[in-house]
Amino acid sequence: MEQASRERLKAACAGRVLFDEPLARHTSMGVGGSADVMVFPADLDDLARCLRCLHEAGLPATPVGNGTNLICRDGGVRGAIVVLKDLQDLRVDRETGERPPVSGTRPYPPGVEILPRRESGDPGDALDSGRRGDGAATQGADGAARKSRRETREPAAGAVSVTAGAGVALQALVALALKEALAGAEFLAGIPGSVGGAVRMNAGAYGRELSDILTAVVWLSRTGELRETPREALTFSYRSTDLPAEAVIAAARFALHPGEAGTIRQAVDETLALRRTKHPLAQRNAGSIFKNPRPTPAGRLIEAAGLKGTRVGQAMVSEMHANFIVNLGGATAADVIALMELIRVRVRAHAGVDLEPEVRIIGEK
Ligand SMILES: Cc1cc2nc3c(=O)[nH]c(=O)nc-3n(C[C@H](O)[C@H](O)[C@H](O)COP(=O)(O)OP(=O)(O)OC[C@H]3O[C@@H](n4cnc5c(N)ncnc54)[C@H](O)[C@@H]3O)c2cc1C
Repeated sequence: MEQASRERLKAACAGRVLFDEPLARHTSMGVGGSADVMVFPADLDDLARCLRCLHEAGLPATPVGNGTNLICRDGGVRGAIVVLKDLQDLRVDRETGERPPVSGTRPYPPGVEILPRRESGDPGDALDSGRRGDGAATQGADGAARKSRRETREPAAGAVSVTAGAGVALQALVALALKEALAGAEFLAGIPGSVGGAVRMNAGAYGRELSDILTAVVWLSRTGELRETPREALTFSYRSTDLPAEAVIAAARFALHPGEAGTIRQAVDETLALRRTKHPLAQRNAGSIFKNPRPTPAGRLIEAAGLKGTRVGQAMVSEMHANFIVNLGGATAADVIALMELIRVRVRAHAGVDLEPEVRIIGEK
């Protein structure tokens, strides 16, 4: 990257700007080459400035949260990684139900465009009838059929609005809900992602998804224009959303409900305990590698194909949960991706099922 572009970026962005920074340091799998540039916008205004500057420099920008669902290839990323970790706004609005400002910069940022409701039917219909496509049929992380989304689509009376910056850890959201005795976010306990990554991935577990509690997404275009899209204008399906591909999520708004602190605590504790028995938390990994096809979850298909413990280099199919690949130490992205391919080939041969990756793969070979 040219020195002049480096200087311009450093001058434009208030947050940290790193050059030739290895992605392995910023992903839970711990593999991958370097990004030409990595920026850590300090707040919403800074994010807009950084995006504008990158756009003017002709540099593509890839948003990253906690890097817990991400594999970067060994050749690294040409262009910029925009790490949203410093957008840490987290607030509850009990009294008014109004939507508070994001990042505390101003009451309602000028230029916010409230996108209209989409009129083309209720995506929940497709979900409830189990059709794939718009609002594809979904399963939880454990493969269990998820609850009808219609039950949770509309915020019920008495809902409390919570606004969280993209960089807020899901565990901070769960902790806030516990502290404030707000129910609805318990299923997120133990998912190590950020709010931004969880919105993009429509993270979920045990029959519930982030979109069940979401009411709006605040995001920026690649040229730094701010938008807010209500939940109703978006379609979420299993681990995906139709939010524009270019969207850099800055914050999300959720509807939680006053609950009983002890009951919420118990649900969180049970979820965490279940995760400890099922997931290889002591080893580096990127969560579920493949989406769960119906009717058999990916982990069971991989195990049935005899692949637990199978290795390519330092990447291994977890002995604990076959849909996790663990980095034994010093794995390369090529190891992980080759192991993914081996799994796909073997499961196709054994069960006739084409596994679809859940993890996002970025960068060059
Ligand atoms: C041990 C373990 C357990 C897990 N369990 C679960 C589980 O039960 N359920 C589940 O759904 N997931 C699970 N995951 C995967 C992961 O935690 C979730 O998908 C999480 O939502 C990803 O968030 P992140 O911030 O880490 O996103 P990243 O990995 O940083 O990014 C994921 C994708 O989102 C995009 N993205 C990130 N931030 C933004 C943003 N601000 N704006 C726009 N795009 C963005 C990235 O470009 C990328 O495409 C698990 C992972 C691990 C390691």
